[in-house]
Amino acid sequence: MINVAKIREDFPILKRTVHGKPLVYFDNAATSQTPQVVIDTIVAYYSNYNSNIHRGVHTLSQEATDKYEEARIKVQQHFNAKEAYEIILTSGTTHSINMVAAGFETLLKKGDEVIVSALEHHSNIVPWQMLCEKTGTVLKVIPMLENGSLDMNSYHKLLNERTKLVFCNHVSNALGTVNPIEEIIEAAHKVEAAVLIDGAQATPHIKPDVQALNVDFYVASAHKLCGPTGVGLLYGKQEWLEKLPPYQGGGEMIATVSFEKTTYAGLPHKFEAGTPNICGGIAFGAGLDYMNAVGFENIASYEHELLVYGTQELLKIEGVKIYGTTAEKTAVISFNVGEIHPYDIGAILDKLGVAVRTGHHCAQPIMDFYQIPGTVRASFSFYNTKEEIDVFITSLKRAVMMLS
Ligand SMILES: *Cc1c(COP(=O)(O)O)cnc(C)c1O
Repeated sequence: MINVAKIREDFPILKRTVHGKPLVYFDNAATSQTPQVVIDTIVAYYSNYNSNIHRGVHTLSQEATDKYEEARIKVQQHFNAKEAYEIILTSGTTHSINMVAAGFETLLKKGDEVIVSALEHHSNIVPWQMLCEKTGTVLKVIPMLENGSLDMNSYHKLLNERTKLVFCNHVSNALGTVNPIEEIIEAAHKVEAAVLIDGAQATPHIKPDVQALNVDFYVASAHKLCGPTGVGLLYGKQEWLEKLPPYQGGGEMIATVSFEKTTYAGLPHKFEAGTPNICGGIAFGAGLDYMNAVGFENIASYEHELLVYGTQELLKIEGVKIYGTTAEKTAVISFNVGEIHPYDIGAILDKLGVAVRTGHHCAQPIMDFYQIPGTVRASFSFYNTKEEIDVFITSLKRAVMMLS
């Protein structure tokens, strides 16, 4: 059970007002808010042991190194990776995907095929298009269905011995659809294709087990997990991380350097060139600790209650159409009201203190499918309440009245 009143005390930002109204923050799918323990971790880092890691013999450097490597182990345990060195700390989901895409440049040849889903965020489309252009690889798309799910029959037909890679999100950020990634991974492995799962939108609600999933790559961002921006992870199976060439050259990623020949460091350092986001990595660990203390089962069941309540109340408003109506959904509601432009609704809601996202949500192909310019997206987190949903609904009614 979630004690939401107590949880809200942990998030200082939830006490602020916007345009004189109490903030109702329903843009959690874009980024989560930050609990005090994570803020304290950031302050403690810069106040007490700010230092560069791994190469220093002095005390501060050792303390920072220990905390940073402890954070890597927290991430490893959270995702149940077999080894800590299978966790590469990156600047976030986008960075992680680009690393894998760049790595595959040397492993793909003309005529090979890769498969993407129609439900992807642009960050899980564009790097692969760039890769295909460079290598002559063919990009195939798993189509979507009207309810916002993937057409799995088509997926199975797309797979063949030329398929080398499949990439798909675990949960769609635009619609909230939870994709059947177990089935996607298992089928891809039958044709010996590798699978990358974009977990940026799933991880705030679901605790993934990368070993049970038997996934080859899994990526996510800390800032959607109560952590800071600019840090995230690339999980890769050891055999894959060893196969891929380094992404960037620089300090930290080498074993020895001379002008004749440089040899690369082992995992994870091979993929972590330069000074990383040390404070961010440590705070990432603190965010995971916080969410695990709340408990992912508690989070999922409470957010589901908010989703059901929000959907029910929203559908009472005339002209509301919800996009993404599968049974397996996270607490994301993407909708439009009649012909009103989503931006106009978002702007009025903001004046009333309610933060929602409007637009294409970095997923233009989904908007093209529905032939709409965008949607209003309300996304809930475990620190939101039914009372806030009531405020949102009342505010939305006012907006609709003003705009129609
Ligand atoms: C947020 C998000 C991304 C991008 O994450 P960044 O932190 O901006 O790199 C990618 N995919 C999905 C599904 C997302 O929700």
